[in-house]
Amino acid sequence: MATPSFSNNKNYFVSLEEALKLSKTIKIPTFEEKLPIENTLHRVLINDIYSKINDPPFNNSSMDGYAVIYSDTITATENEPIELEIIGTLPAGETPNEKLTSGFAIKIMTGAPIPDGADSIIMVEKTKKTNNKVLLYSPSFPNYIRIKGENLSKNELIFKKGTYLTPREIGLLATMGFSEVSVIKQLKISIISTGDELIAPGKELLPGQIYESNSYVLEGLIKEMGHIPIRHNSVSDTIDDLREELDKASNISDLIITSGGVSMGDFDLVRKIMEEEGNILFWRIKIKPGSPPLFGKWNNTPIFGLPGNPVSSHVVFQILINPWLKFITNANGPTPKIVKAKLLENINLKKEYINFSRVIVENTGTEMIAYTTTHQGSGNLHSLTTSNALTILPYNEKGTKDQIIDVLLL
Ligand code: AMP
Ligand code: MG
Repeated sequence: MATPSFSNNKNYFVSLEEALKLSKTIKIPTFEEKLPIENTLHRVLINDIYSKINDPPFNNSSMDGYAVIYSDTITATENEPIELEIIGTLPAGETPNEKLTSGFAIKIMTGAPIPDGADSIIMVEKTKKTNNKVLLYSPSFPNYIRIKGENLSKNELIFKKGTYLTPREIGLLATMGFSEVSVIKQLKISIISTGDELIAPGKELLPGQIYESNSYVLEGLIKEMGHIPIRHNSVSDTIDDLREELDKASNISDLIITSGGVSMGDFDLVRKIMEEEGNILFWRIKIKPGSPPLFGKWNNTPIFGLPGNPVSSHVVFQILINPWLKFITNANGPTPKIVKAKLLENINLKKEYINFSRVIVENTGTEMIAYTTTHQGSGNLHSLTTSNALTILPYNEKGTKDQIIDVLLL
């Protein structure tokens, strides 16, 4: 369905909140697949996960030392050690077959099961061994025993569906005994850069040309979210080429992301073709940088049209496409972290816009501070690599020196 002409229609120019809300009115189906856990980095769990086991599965030692009876050791000091007789050695992986009684000790390694009768551990550093005797120079420690189930109980809910898997979660799946889990099938996401001036890195740069970089940034951001980027060759600024590439993308992908061609220029044809032949939900958001993005459908495939300026396309991906993808997949990550920091300088703000300036956030030891680095042009990708955060200065904030503000860590 073609959209009526909207270039001057203020209704399409929305706040970030409205943009997020509107984008969620377009949904796409997701599917499930079962994968070995080693292949689930950055993927999203489709089911709640309950522990298959108690963790640890048995009481065990958290120290290399001796399993003993606490009451035997209570009076031990540096000057007056206690002597016990060693009746065995327990490496990790073995099960104890002796029961410990008063006056005796069993040598034990970290992770080995606690023998019956023992109620505490003395670490090897506090002992001295001679033949089959050991001298204890301190009382033993009951809390060097890791108790069965103290980390996880069998059948306990550990991960809710929608959990985004990082190495930590994958490790815990292994701890619980899962060799495979069901996750959301990856979405295929086409990336189409537009612009006559763009040339692939590696080729010779001719007058008027620049190296195409946005598709590489977007590819990485999509991979971090666990999906499959399909990078198209960049498209020239002609309606026919654009139509052909968009048709191709909508046939092979679940989502299309374009970069460039959405502002007010004569050759901003993504906006024009979407206006004439696509379906637009919004165009332009009150954010800086990155105000001209659009969102809608091309042949029934959702499409985000990002601005061409490299900083803008990165910022808009993070604040608009990241939340949409998480909404579609019911995922709880990845989510850039927001912290508070003190602004060390005045920042020039565009009124009525949310301002995402690139800053360095540092911990001085007593407080978090934020300051800008290189100049803030939205074409300056270097400013993103020399900073580690974006300010979130909401509508009508001032951005003055010493103000405590929210910053989004990159
Ligand atoms: P546009 O949004 O098409 O008007 O582009 C805005 C600015 O971003 C222009 O200076 C373009 O040359 C630049 N630009 C557009 N696309 C890319 C890209 N894929 N990689 C690097 N720069 C780009
Ligand atoms: Mg362009």
